Amino acid sequence: MEYIISELKACQDANTAKNPEWGTGYVGGVPNSKTIWTAFKKGDFAPFRAAWVPWYNVHKLYAGLRDAWLYTGNEDAREIFLKFCDWGIDITSGLTDVQMQSMLDIEHGGMNEVFADAYQMTGNKKYMEAAKRFSHLMLLNAMAEDNDNLDNRHANTQVPKAIGFQRIGELDNNLKFHEAGRFFWQTVTTNRSLAFGGNSRREFFPSVAASVDFVNDVEGPESCNSYNMLKLTEDLFRVQPSASYIDFYERTLFNHILSTQHPVNGGYVYFTPVRPRHYRVYSAPNEAMWCCVGSGMENHGKYNEFIYTHLHDSLFLNLFIASELNWKEKGIILQQETGFPKQEQTKLTVKEGRSKFKLMVRYPSWVSKGALKITVNGQNINYTSEPSSFVAIDREWKKGDVVLIKLPMHNSLEPMPNVSSYIAILHGPIVLAAKTGIEDLKGIVADDSRWGHIAGGKKLPIDKAPILIADDIKTIPGKLVPVKDRPLHFTFASQTMGNPAKLELEPFYQLHDARYMMYWMALSNKG
Ligand SMILES: [Zn+2]
Repeated sequence: MEYIISELKACQDANTAKNPEWGTGYVGGVPNSKTIWTAFKKGDFAPFRAAWVPWYNVHKLYAGLRDAWLYTGNEDAREIFLKFCDWGIDITSGLTDVQMQSMLDIEHGGMNEVFADAYQMTGNKKYMEAAKRFSHLMLLNAMAEDNDNLDNRHANTQVPKAIGFQRIGELDNNLKFHEAGRFFWQTVTTNRSLAFGGNSRREFFPSVAASVDFVNDVEGPESCNSYNMLKLTEDLFRVQPSASYIDFYERTLFNHILSTQHPVNGGYVYFTPVRPRHYRVYSAPNEAMWCCVGSGMENHGKYNEFIYTHLHDSLFLNLFIASELNWKEKGIILQQETGFPKQEQTKLTVKEGRSKFKLMVRYPSWVSKGALKITVNGQNINYTSEPSSFVAIDREWKKGDVVLIKLPMHNSLEPMPNVSSYIAILHGPIVLAAKTGIEDLKGIVADDSRWGHIAGGKKLPIDKAPILIADDIKTIPGKLVPVKDRPLHFTFASQTMGNPAKLELEPFYQLHDARYMMYWMALSNKG
C-alpha cells in the first residue's frame, strides 16, 4: 500500500507541474484525461461524455486513498486525497448548477460521499458544499419525498448517490438528505431485493411489470450493488441503531456476499442469476478485473467489520460470527464462539476486564416471538423485546461471565418481489438452493473478454424446471425433511414435489460449480 501511495504521489506531483491549466492535484487514470478535463472545465462535455464514466473511474481513486488513510492512518494518502478533492472543486468551479446536474446524469460513483468524508476529515465547509453540488437532484428530490422513481434506472449508479445523501444528512444535520438516504434503503430492501439480498437484473431496476425478468434473465443481481447496499446499511445504523438494518445486513452477507467468491480458485462473481437451472461464472484470478472483482476483494473483508458496534455505553452484538472483541476504552475482551448458521446458538465469554455497560443482544427477525433464550452465567434473562429488536442486558460485567444465546431457526418462504408465483425457501436467515446438474457450464471461469462475466451456457427451458405443488403453498417449508447429520440440508417431502423429486436443499452460499434452483414456481392443488 505504501508503495502504491508513493507512486500515486509522484503522478499527482507530475500532473500538478506539467498541467497547471487543468491538472493541479489530479491523480486519475482516465485515458485522454487532458482532452476530457480541459474541455470539461470550460463546460464542453463532449469529450467527457464520449469517455467511459470518468467520475466513476476517478471515484475509485478517491475511495482508495480515503480508506488507506482511514484504516491505516497513512498521512500521504490523506494529503493526496485532499489535493485531489481540491482538484474536483476547481475543475467544476466554472460550471453552473444546471451544467452540474446535466453532468451528474452519467454514472459517477460516490463522488458526493467522498466530499462529505473530506468535510469530516477537515471540518472545511467547502467540501460539504462540493458534496451537495455533486448530489444528483433527480434522485435526491424524489427520495426525500418518499417517492420511488427507480424503475428502469441503472441500479449501481443510484446506490452510491444514496450513500452520499446519508453522509451529508449525518454530517450536516440535514433532514432532507438523511430522509433521501433512509427512504432509498427502505424501498430497495422491501420492494426491490431478492431473498439473498441482491437487487437488479441486467444491472437495472425493473418495473413491476418487468420483474418477471428475474425468472428469465441470466444477468441477475450484481455483486457491487450489495457491496454498496451494505455500506449504506452500516451508515444508517450508525445514526439510528435499528435491528431491521442488521436483519438485511446479515441476510445479504451470508447469502449474497459469502456466495460470490469461489472457495478453491478465489474468483469473484459478477451476476447471480436466479433463473431456474442456470449457473454463475467466476473471474479468473489476475485476469478479469471487473467492477465486481474490485469491490469483491473488499467484500470478504467485511465479515468482521460489523459483528459488534458501540454507542456510548451500549455494546451491540449484531452478528453471530466467531470472533474476539478488544474494547479498549472499557478494558474488555470478549470472545464469541459459534458454528452459526449451522449451529443455532452463540456463546459470549468475558475473557478480560471488569466494566459496567449495556450488552444489546440482537433478537433477529427470524427467531419466533418468545423463542429467543438468553442466559447469563446459567440464569435466564427475562425480556419483553420482540423479534427484530435488541434485548438489553445492563450489568457490571467481569472476567469469566458467560452469555449463552439460543437462536432457534425455522423454515420459511418468501415470494419473489412482484412475481408471487415464485418462492424462495429459507432456514432462519439462510437461503436454501438445490444443485440440478453440471451440463454446459460454458465459461464458468471467465477471462477478461467483454462478455466473459455473463454465464453464456445453454438456457434450460423454464417450463421444464422443477416446481413445487402443495394443497397450501404456505405448508411447503414445514414439510421439508432434515438430512441426518447435515445441518441446513433438507429434502422435499414427496407430496410437495412436482418433477423431479430427488433434489437436496443446501445453503446457497456453499453451492458452486453447478446449475441450481434458488426460486421455485409454487402451485397449489386447490387453485
Ligand atoms: Zn460490479
